[in-house]
Amino acid sequence: MDKPKLIKLSDGNAIPQLGLGVWQADNHQVVKAIHHALDTGYRLFDTAAIYHNEEGVGKALKQITVPRDELFITTKLWNNDQTHARGAVLESLQRLQLDYIDLYLMHWPVPSRELYVEAWKQMIILQKEGLVKSIGVCNFKEEHLERIITETGVTPVINQIEIHPLMQQAPLRAWNTTHNIVTESWSPLAQGGDGVFEQPVIQKLAEKYHKTPAQIVLRWHLDSGLVVIPKSVTPSRIEENFHIFDFKLEKEEVAAITILDQKKRLGPDPDIFVDIS
Ligand code: NDP
Repeated sequence: MDKPKLIKLSDGNAIPQLGLGVWQADNHQVVKAIHHALDTGYRLFDTAAIYHNEEGVGKALKQITVPRDELFITTKLWNNDQTHARGAVLESLQRLQLDYIDLYLMHWPVPSRELYVEAWKQMIILQKEGLVKSIGVCNFKEEHLERIITETGVTPVINQIEIHPLMQQAPLRAWNTTHNIVTESWSPLAQGGDGVFEQPVIQKLAEKYHKTPAQIVLRWHLDSGLVVIPKSVTPSRIEENFHIFDFKLEKEEVAAITILDQKKRLGPDPDIFVDIS
């Protein structure tokens, strides 16, 4: 079966280049989606404490026979837990019914609270303890990354940020690459539309390769060197989003999608996002 390649992280671990995101899926949906995704070939699953579905992820993983070391489970430290990462990770582990998490990400920097450096220091300890194999961040801009690296000497292995054809974040991606940080795209399908699938260039490529617009967009992420985690709870879409390893976009085709960038965020600006619910 065609499958995603493994992307090497700077700490020596490796992450599948494509996985399943589960934001906005409830516990019941998640169990079904993960079973279907595993049967399809997915091994990377991206959840978060704030998604309130870690129990569902844990339940599904408990029911399967895929060896633990073939799975790659990501969860995230919520903003309100930045002062007590250890307690937060222990709770996540319990809900996930796991002994360790493959990738633990700080969910947002929340710069106005001035806690993210402290939280990063705690995450470094969690990695040393073996509770988490790799540590990274989400939604960090250059200045936030610069601070945690300078103040701790430890560089996150991944920066998970909003990326889709209308919001491409080229300068931040370049910064990540220069610092050996893998970029992972969230909302890679622009949450299922926002006009992306209707773009003529994407329609044309879909016709050329006999693929759907969503498959073209996901292939653009892969061919741009990004790790990607499309979310779906729909069995046919879970399959569709995975069946993209039998073709590849030409360099000029990647470039033709790259010029669609409108710097249009669907999510909040990390500099001002302060949800501490
Ligand atoms: P996506 O861009 O993955 O889009 C998901 C939406 O698109 C859902 O409504 C889904 O519907 C629909 N969809 C999925 N596949 C297809 C398809 N082939 N054709 C048409 N529609 C489709 O958005 P997300 O915001 O969910 O991002 C993906 C993941 O990234 C999240 O689930 C989460 O894990 C992570 N994330 C991280 C954030 C962070 O701050 N770190 C922020 C946001 C997301 P349906 O499910 O009904 O099939």
